[in-house]
Amino acid sequence: MKVFFHEVSVTTSRRIQLIDITHHVEEAVGKSGIANGVCIVFAPHATAAVVVNEHEEGLIQDIVSKIEEIVEPERSWRHNIIDDNAHAHIGSAIIGSERVLPVRKGRIVRGTWQNIFLVELDGPRKERNIVIEVLGE
Ligand code: ZN
Repeated sequence: MKVFFHEVSVTTSRRIQLIDITHHVEEAVGKSGIANGVCIVFAPHATAAVVVNEHEEGLIQDIVSKIEEIVEPERSWRHNIIDDNAHAHIGSAIIGSERVLPVRKGRIVRGTWQNIFLVELDGPRKERNIVIEVLGE
């Protein structure tokens, strides 16, 4: 089994934001030379997450609105006493830091309306890393 490890970084411009990283993931899978296996997309951050869904501007705004509703950024969370970002940690914990996608014939298996997004929950940030690991043969 081959293991290919790749890391990219993106800049975010809003407090809660979805950044399409599909092209980065597809590029990494292409570079890996792995035909069949799995691809792990992982955000090594306690205040970010990874989701797979449709890249449609209205829907992206709807997802951001729903996240805000769930994580309640304006609530006086206990963690805010030391670090004003409890909502972002909660969002990351609920949504999750990683997604696993199948790799078949050298490409990610995904639906037509499935793009891969980094979810910024405590932006804006100059640098958010995404770890892409491809395992297979
Ligand atoms: Zn914190």
